[in-house]
Amino acid sequence: MIENISVIGTGYLGATHAACMAELGYNVLGVDIDPEKIDSLSRGELPFHEPGLPELIRKHVDSGRLRFTTDLETVGAWGDVHFIAVGTPQQAGGTGADMTFVDAATASLARAITKDALIVGKSTVPVGTARRLAKLVEEESAPDVRVTLAWNPEFLREGFAVKDTISPDRLVVGTADPADEAILRDVYSDALGRDTPWINTDFETAELVKVAANAFLATKISFINAFSEVTEAVGGNITTLADAIGHDTRIGRKFLNAGVGFGGGCLPKDIRALQTRVGELGLDHTMRFLDEMDQINLRRRDRVVNLAENILSGDLTGKRIAVLGVAFKPLSDDVRDSPGLDVAVRLFSAGADVAVYDPEGNRNAAKRFPRLGYVDSMTEAVTNADLVVLTTEWNEFKGLVPADLESLVAQKQFIDARNVLDAAQWEGAGWRFAQLGRHFVD
Ligand code: NAD
Repeated sequence: MIENISVIGTGYLGATHAACMAELGYNVLGVDIDPEKIDSLSRGELPFHEPGLPELIRKHVDSGRLRFTTDLETVGAWGDVHFIAVGTPQQAGGTGADMTFVDAATASLARAITKDALIVGKSTVPVGTARRLAKLVEEESAPDVRVTLAWNPEFLREGFAVKDTISPDRLVVGTADPADEAILRDVYSDALGRDTPWINTDFETAELVKVAANAFLATKISFINAFSEVTEAVGGNITTLADAIGHDTRIGRKFLNAGVGFGGGCLPKDIRALQTRVGELGLDHTMRFLDEMDQINLRRRDRVVNLAENILSGDLTGKRIAVLGVAFKPLSDDVRDSPGLDVAVRLFSAGADVAVYDPEGNRNAAKRFPRLGYVDSMTEAVTNADLVVLTTEWNEFKGLVPADLESLVAQKQFIDARNVLDAAQWEGAGWRFAQLGRHFVD
């Protein structure tokens, strides 16, 4: 009977997983090497934005079911199941996944374990990792305890992380021993609905399912954005095109929104890590299309900067530009590889006076690029703006109508880089209004 669950790494994934495991009834210990994060979580405070998660953390810190520590020795003596949720960022100066965190966490955990236990990897990793780590665990763990490894990739979406963890749309586990599958089935029994697919497979398939899912989603977004480049040149309506092909149930409408493209801590680095890994395996030709997807995605950011230059007559020096949205997507404060932040920085580097407003992302963006001008409201951002650029589709921005801004801006000029506003309405109100995938007449 599983009672004690630990989660190693308490970032976006780990903090969510820890709180949700407590909600499912387990005693949970979250571990991180970052003492500030652990202090904050121990006080019941979440150091990042995720809807519904602060309430869950506070509830279970108060109930005593959820605790946090930096001490791995305690965890090793206590846990029945240990989830590894540390980061696998893009390597500095490379395109592969930086595996130093996963490797170090797994090795030190295996050494710290003093009772029979299952280690479960959740981080997104290059194929081959689980098999390698299973061997490492065998070598590093004490001879008198049985410590095994399983891989259970995570599919949660930031912004919906609690729901996706408590009631996942499928669970995938890679195991080498039926006993380990049985343990995981037990752990997740209350998260599994009657019809939730449970996919038990080998290590390699489990690892590949995750990167295949992300590669597919990235491809869908870049696919529609490639068509954006065509409609920008010849005319046509990219949203109508997406709606029309999306009605085909084989295609589906989701992830076909043309705009400034994908970002965040997962899709960009995961498609690059996948290409790098297949390259190491001598199979680089198989995933070459992902390089194209990456390039299409990055060209969308260029397009927004070019449109801004175009609208502002080629010279951004001293022009006031409001950038609405630096979180990589709504309902998140995550600015990792954020298209909006990238655009803001490039406009700033070209001499513009950039005013950035994001409902949740300003704090993280300011840590990365302190020199941009961060303001506390949309009104402040757009006041005296020569150009407004919408880069993240928060509800607050999606509801904008021309009358909201007209008395505030210096010039009625707008780039809707997420295609969420009604162009006819803005143009009808006398705005120079550009969208991605739409022919822009200067
Ligand atoms: P993150 O950077 O927010 O969190 C990683 C945490 O691990 C940090 O708090 C870091 O201090 C901690 N850490 C590093 N080394 C450690 C060690 N040796 N011991 C204990 N803690 C350690 O990253 P994240 O977004 O939570 O992503 C974690 C993994 O989950 C990645 O592989 C990512 O690809 C995957 N993933 C993330 C999401 C998501 O939406 N964020 C979704 C699915 C999968």
